[in-house]
Amino acid sequence: MKILDIRTGFLSIPMKKPFKTALRTVDKIENIVVVIKTDTDSVGYGDAAPTAVITGDTVQSIQGAISHIRQHLIGQEIQNLELVCQIIRTAIVGNTSAKAALDMAVYDLWGKLHHAPLFRLLGGFRNELITDYTISIDTPEKMAAESLEMVGKGFSILKTKVGGNIQTDIQRLKAIRNAVGPDIKIRVDANQGWRPKEAVYALQQLQVEGVHLELMEQPVNRKDFIGMQFICKHSHTPVFADESAFSPEDVQQLIQMKAADGINIKLMKCGGIHEALKITALIETAGLKGMVGSMMEGPIGVTAITHLAMAKSVISSFDLDAPLFLKENPFSGGIRYTDSKVQLTDLPGLGVYNIEAHLQY
Ligand SMILES: [Mg+2]
Repeated sequence: MKILDIRTGFLSIPMKKPFKTALRTVDKIENIVVVIKTDTDSVGYGDAAPTAVITGDTVQSIQGAISHIRQHLIGQEIQNLELVCQIIRTAIVGNTSAKAALDMAVYDLWGKLHHAPLFRLLGGFRNELITDYTISIDTPEKMAAESLEMVGKGFSILKTKVGGNIQTDIQRLKAIRNAVGPDIKIRVDANQGWRPKEAVYALQQLQVEGVHLELMEQPVNRKDFIGMQFICKHSHTPVFADESAFSPEDVQQLIQMKAADGINIKLMKCGGIHEALKITALIETAGLKGMVGSMMEGPIGVTAITHLAMAKSVISSFDLDAPLFLKENPFSGGIRYTDSKVQLTDLPGLGVYNIEAHLQY
């Protein structure tokens, strides 16, 4: 199966309501979709989510990087997966979102070449999983009300966005715990919004007040590995790195410094499934916990990381709710939800189809 052509299209989907974190507010997704044509009937699909304040990647930079890497991929054989992934990784520095889109389209084709769903080829550890649901940052009252509403809709794990004033954040988490009761898992994501001593104070304060948290994601600035190390050392709540952990090299450094108890793996940060597999091997060896998540992105990218999540035992926390925020999913196949339960189809590759008619060129 030889790569003959690589095209990109544009996908824009409005969201049901704006999504707010300590870093940004989004009201629609705008993704670049990669379409790889081959000398067979099989077509590979991937997508990239521009998140300038997280990855540094914009619509224009993603398109530019894809057209640069494209020339090195035309004519390559999908059966030489390792070589094709090496070309994507080394053709340009950085640009992880563009690389992720190309990488997942290549893995889609690799699954189609072997007539198997990707998650089975990568390990096939589980057939279904439970995703959390993310509560946007807002007033304590509004966050508590939305948390209660989502528990009523069948979600037993909430991911709550904080990262503002530390006292208000403590009030937010107390209000949510009071509203949903003791049996719902609450994970917290400050998106770099706290300082190390504030984080230790907040986590201790919440523990004293009986507000149990499952895990704390990226409390401090992404570059502050020493701050992450300090919080790991001084709090009982497991600390997960998200924005601090882009590449396998970042993860290796976090492991060496004991600066994280877990890693949130996202394809847009590491550059695709090939690099994500290296991260899963590192954290499994080091005894860290694995989580998967996504940017606010479309169904192709979230389907791709879900294949990894289904394949690997080391991944035990799942933040795969992005498509639930979209007004519609124009594509067929791929990730599907029954309340908080997530499943994939048994189609080969990523299993997403009916795509090209919905793209703008
Ligand atoms: Mg995060």
